[in-house]
Amino acid sequence: MSEFLSRIQKAAPTASDVTGRRWFYIPYDRLTDAVGPLAEHRAGDCGIVLVESQQKALRRPYHKKKLVLLLANERHFALEQAARGVKVVYVFTRGSFGDGLLEAQRQHSFCEMAVTRPAERELRIDLDLARAAGLRLNELEDAAWLSTKEDFQRAFPNGRSYVMDRFYRAMRVKTGILMVKGKPVGGSYSYDAENRKTYRGEVPVPVRPTYAPDSITMEVIELVNRYFPSNFGNTDGFEMPVTAKQSDDAWRFALKYLLPHFGPFEDAMSSREPELFHSKLSALINLSRLLPRRVVDDVAEEYAKGDIPLASAEGFIRQVLGWREFMRHLHDATDGYRTLDVEQEQHPSDGSAYAGATPSYLGAALPLPAAYWGVTSGLNCLDISVKQVVREGWSHHIQRLMVLSNLATLCGFSPRELTDWFWFAYVDAYDWVVEPNVLGMSTYADGGLTATKPYISGAAYINRMSDYCRDCRFDPKKNVGPDSCPFTALYWTFLDKHEQKLRSNSRLKMPYATLGKKSVAEKAALRERAEQAIASLESVPRPEY
Ligand code: FAD
Ligand code: SF4
Repeated sequence: MSEFLSRIQKAAPTASDVTGRRWFYIPYDRLTDAVGPLAEHRAGDCGIVLVESQQKALRRPYHKKKLVLLLANERHFALEQAARGVKVVYVFTRGSFGDGLLEAQRQHSFCEMAVTRPAERELRIDLDLARAAGLRLNELEDAAWLSTKEDFQRAFPNGRSYVMDRFYRAMRVKTGILMVKGKPVGGSYSYDAENRKTYRGEVPVPVRPTYAPDSITMEVIELVNRYFPSNFGNTDGFEMPVTAKQSDDAWRFALKYLLPHFGPFEDAMSSREPELFHSKLSALINLSRLLPRRVVDDVAEEYAKGDIPLASAEGFIRQVLGWREFMRHLHDATDGYRTLDVEQEQHPSDGSAYAGATPSYLGAALPLPAAYWGVTSGLNCLDISVKQVVREGWSHHIQRLMVLSNLATLCGFSPRELTDWFWFAYVDAYDWVVEPNVLGMSTYADGGLTATKPYISGAAYINRMSDYCRDCRFDPKKNVGPDSCPFTALYWTFLDKHEQKLRSNSRLKMPYATLGKKSVAEKAALRERAEQAIASLESVPRPEY
């Protein structure tokens, strides 16, 4: 018997525990006793059910490190709760989470369980199906978020024109974070303009703490390697936090050593320092190992003490209090981008309730090429970013936005396939966060619901913000010719191709003015280079998934 099983079985309930305690289903991404039912009731009055679902694990070829991170955290959480005196029923099922709960209900004769409203749409579907099959499960409000549905509705009373900045300001006012007498500290809600420095090694990047796998995590690593051998990435060198204590330690380190320098280099990309000063804690925040309220409050407190400059503190708080909350509300309000009135991509669907939304406002539908699985493309920025994702299941925001998604948008790769790729390849991806970020923010597939313009650029931006171009076989200063950087030709060709849909966008006025000055021959040469670049990327067959 595995060590985990033998230890967790000791926390199994007796018949009197089943009737005498309140029972809660704890979803895989609500591993906390700092808010929610486990904070509201004494440990000795609670019992919890946790489920490992094979069906969910098989739904996508998730990065092996993501599976390890999830399962190791879930198992350690179960043991932590058992040590507090909470009774634990830990279910392994070949079916869905709902199937696992039905099994637990049958086996233990629970009268009723409760769960906080699941963050993932996929889990809500599972639970609805199980309720229809007889599961007795009440839904409670989820206190892990920083905002409510009403906060979002108040910010956008007409249910249209969702602009993150408006929501963020409203949340600053509501929470009083970085506010003095109803005004933003420093006089401005945003210091984004100060946070666009390139990185040339000015400030050394501190070495982060790592967490060697213990025997419980080693069991999970063996399980993942045995049952998911062909999934994306590998488990080599897994060293992420898996316990509450390790998460806390990783956050304290980020707060003290990384956050003070976060702002200025937030948008920079470096081949030598791929993580720069990013906290790299999204996966733990999304599992509720770190609560958004806590990280935001801690950063505000460090700013007040003078230990984190305002531009860095505000930059970080905007991501968590603003973008993160905004994205999940948008996902909810659009039923996972299913209710949009925009062009749809003809994408093969499994026809199930889990099938992903397929908006494609700009008609993008080309298959995502093999380069996204790690086949070398020769585009140094792409190859470096993908290698990092294969290795770690993580890259920072600007690599996601201005390299991986930028290229996909410019080339016209399927937004759905790109979303699915991000979903299985990244350790922090769940439907509520990955779909708005990819279908909305980064590819403009939603026609501008999430972002006010497509996030696209030619080589000049990547060359300015990174050191990637220096070691690339393409020349970022050349627009056409076999050694010219494809990004630039793709950029102008994209604007030309989508002129009808994008010209009226006021934020694209300047690029369209520049495009207007290009001759017919220049545009044709750019188009030829762009088409050749796409054909070259598409010529390598990619793995099926
Ligand atoms: P930091 O740079 O330290 O930022 C602090 C925190 O802010 C993050 O940990 C995260 O919790 C939050 N945050 C920042 N930006 C966003 C955002 N746009 N949406 C939601 N939360 C945000 N984030 C995910 O958590 N899961 C995803 O699947 C995901 N997919 C993305 C896909 C694309 C194409 C893009 C452009 C962004 C995506 N993001 C996603 C947002 C962001 O890139 C990551 O949260 C961030 O890079 C994680 O690294 P970090 O923890 O070092 O973040
Ligand atoms: Fe990327 Fe072009 Fe720079 Fe090469 S030259 S790294 S392809 S932007």
